[in-house]
Amino acid sequence: MPAEVLAQAAHEMLDWHGSGMGVMEMSHRGKEFQSIYEAAEADLRELLAVPANFKILFMQGGGLAENAIVPLNLSALRAPAGGTGSADFVVTGSWSEKSLKEASKYCQTTVAASDKAGGFTSIPAASTWQLSDQASYVHLCTNETINGIEFQSLPDLKALGSQAELVIDFSSHVASRPVDWSKVGLAFGGAQKNLGPAGLTLVVVREDLLGHALPICPSAFNYKTVADNGSMYNTPPTYAIYMAGLVFQWLKRQGGVAAMEARNIAKAELLYGAIDATGFYMNGVARGARSRMNVPFFLRNEALNDAFLTGAKAAGLLQVKGHKSVGGMRASIYNAMPIEGVQALVQYMQEFERTHG
Ligand SMILES: *Cc1c(COP(=O)(O)O)cnc(C)c1O
Repeated sequence: MPAEVLAQAAHEMLDWHGSGMGVMEMSHRGKEFQSIYEAAEADLRELLAVPANFKILFMQGGGLAENAIVPLNLSALRAPAGGTGSADFVVTGSWSEKSLKEASKYCQTTVAASDKAGGFTSIPAASTWQLSDQASYVHLCTNETINGIEFQSLPDLKALGSQAELVIDFSSHVASRPVDWSKVGLAFGGAQKNLGPAGLTLVVVREDLLGHALPICPSAFNYKTVADNGSMYNTPPTYAIYMAGLVFQWLKRQGGVAAMEARNIAKAELLYGAIDATGFYMNGVARGARSRMNVPFFLRNEALNDAFLTGAKAAGLLQVKGHKSVGGMRASIYNAMPIEGVQALVQYMQEFERTHG
C-alpha cells in the first residue's frame, strides 16, 4: 500500500468527510458509500481504460474463488444447450495450474500448452498452442506471481483460429501496465497485490458474456446477477472498496498506468541488471518472459541463503524469501514499491556479494 494512502485512511478512520461516521459504519446503500463506490468505479475505469461495453464488478472470494466462478459463468458460452462446455488452458506456472485444476470440476478442460516440463521458465509461443475447436474460453495467468513469468503482450485468439474468449488472471500485475481490451473477454484479480487490501476481487467482463451461467452457479457469484445489482446483490466489501478507491486516486496523482509502467520498467531493469551482472545471483526465466512485478532469484551458493535473509531483514528489506514451492529469493516490486526500495535491495545484494563472494 502507498504510505500516503494509509495516512489518509488513518486520518479519515473515525469521521469520513464530516459525515460523523467511519466508512466501516456506513450502510452500503447510503449516499456516502454510494459516492465512494461510484468514484472508485469511475477512477478504475479511467485508469485501466475499460471500454463502455465492459462491466466492472467488485466481488469477494479472491483469485482462487474466480477459478471456480469463471467456468461456472463462461464454460457453457459455446456449448450445446444443457452442456457444460469446455475451456483451454495455457499453463505457465503455479497459478494457471491451480486454475486448470479447479475449472476441471465444472467443465471439460484442455491443456493447450504447458511449460511444466521446462520448470516454468518460459511462455510457449502462441503459434504452438493446441487450441480446441469448441472451447468457450482460453485461460491465461498473465503474471505468474510465484514463478516470475509475465506475458509482455496478449495473444490474438482470432488470428490463432480460435473463436474462444480470452480470460486473464491479472491479479498480480493489474494497473502496472495497460490492458489491450480488444483481445480480452474477461479479466479478474484479487486486489491485494496491486490495488488495495485483501477482501476485494475485481472482475472486468464484456457485457455480451453475461447471462450464460450454469444452473448450479451460486447467485452471489453469477456475473449477470452481480452486474444487474451494481455489485450490491450481497453486501460488497465496503472498506476494501474504499481503500482501493484511495489507491486509484493515488495512481491518478502518479500520472496513471502509463507512468506506473515506465516506473515499473525502470525498477525491473535495475533489479534484473544486478542479478545478471555477475555469476553470484541468477534468475532462470527466459528474458522475454520475465515479470516486472515478481522477481525470483537464487544465490548460486544456496548455503548462503540464511545469511542473505538475516542481513536483508537487518537492512529493513522484508519478505524477500522465495515462495516455498520455488525456494531462493523473491522480490515483489508492485506499484507501491518506490524505486528507492529496489535501489536499497540492489545495494544490499552488491554489498552481500562483496563480503561473501
Ligand atoms: C495471489 C494470486 C491469486 C490468489 O488470490 P486469492 O485472493 O488468495 O484467492 C490468484 N492468482 C494470482 C496470479 C495471484 O497472484
